[in-house]
Amino acid sequence: MIDKKDLREMLSLEEKPDIENLFEKAYQTKLRYVGNKVYFRGIIEISNICSKNCYYCGIRRDNKNVLRYDMTDNEIFVAALWAYEQHYGSIVLQSGEREDKQFTDRITNLLNTLKKKTDGKLGITLSLGEQNKDTYQKWFEAGAHRYLLRIETSNENLYRRHHPEGHSFRRRLQCLQDLQDVGYQVGTGVIVGLPHQTVDDLTEDILFFKEFDIDMIGMGPFILHKNTPLVSYNGLVKKEDNFLKTLKMIAATRIILRDVNIASTTALQAIDPIGRELGLQVGANIIMPVLTEIKYRTSYQLYEGKPCLDENAAQCRGCLEKRIFSIGEKIGYDQWGDSPHYFKKQER
Ligand code: SAM
Ligand code: SF4
Repeated sequence: MIDKKDLREMLSLEEKPDIENLFEKAYQTKLRYVGNKVYFRGIIEISNICSKNCYYCGIRRDNKNVLRYDMTDNEIFVAALWAYEQHYGSIVLQSGEREDKQFTDRITNLLNTLKKKTDGKLGITLSLGEQNKDTYQKWFEAGAHRYLLRIETSNENLYRRHHPEGHSFRRRLQCLQDLQDVGYQVGTGVIVGLPHQTVDDLTEDILFFKEFDIDMIGMGPFILHKNTPLVSYNGLVKKEDNFLKTLKMIAATRIILRDVNIASTTALQAIDPIGRELGLQVGANIIMPVLTEIKYRTSYQLYEGKPCLDENAAQCRGCLEKRIFSIGEKIGYDQWGDSPHYFKKQER
């Protein structure tokens, strides 16, 4: 049984030695339940066209300063096959949210072709937002087997505060349920450090992951983007505070959930050049190197300071490998690196 009070205390630690103890405990939990192998998911940001308007996001529909793009099928195949040939094991296709048929059919076709071109060996995760259950089903049948959809915050009031009319917390919950019912390994997560978010909210977020029997977690620090309504919080949001809070969230999530996959997200590296390595050292076991062509990267900025805007996928691979080996971890090349939690759930 999780004691909510203990969890809250973990997230409230302030003294350096206490925080270091928390991180060490999380790392030991990671070694015990998922080992010291890091799995790569090469992320391809296929389009920044979005029908939604989340207040925090740099590619929200109403940001007119963004040059909108849609990668061609061929560009997507080139990036995906590069990942496959580099033994990455799996990729993530991510984009702004679109529910129109032209988009959903295109994804189904892309999945079918990618699976064929890689003899079914390339693992494919999707991060394409809220969709109806039929669409999730079609994409699952076409070969996607993992889906990332962050709840962003499990506090419905806070969710409402950071999303305009037309966005629904209930629908997001329904989507997570549909994804589980279809059979995906489901990933969710929150933005850490959103304005008005409290330590109680973050405590509840971890309890939510547990209650929903989530397989994969992706959490990143909130980072302001100047062309969003949240610019009014400029000066009030401290990136460094959000960074430390995120590390504590990763550590506490590992200690409580044990056998799930946890991503060390790019947003950590946007604040600290070794942010992703630190994420691995406090309990994360997944890294998502960006494979998007350099010409599109500046147009996919969810927040300011996105790293590696001018580093191509090959340079990124070499750099990452060195960083991971330097902290004594291994890389699970050619493996999907599925969440052990998902399989234990199946046995249950
Ligand atoms: N559109 C899809 C969706 O929302 O699920 C997938 C892409 S969306 C850009 C991926 C994630 O970016 C969101 O779930 C959100 O948590 C994160 N994000 C957006 N703006 C952010 C910001 N300013 N700081 C940190 N994370 C942010
Ligand atoms: Fe669109 Fe996703 Fe950004 Fe929201 S977070 S505006 S759905 S890309």
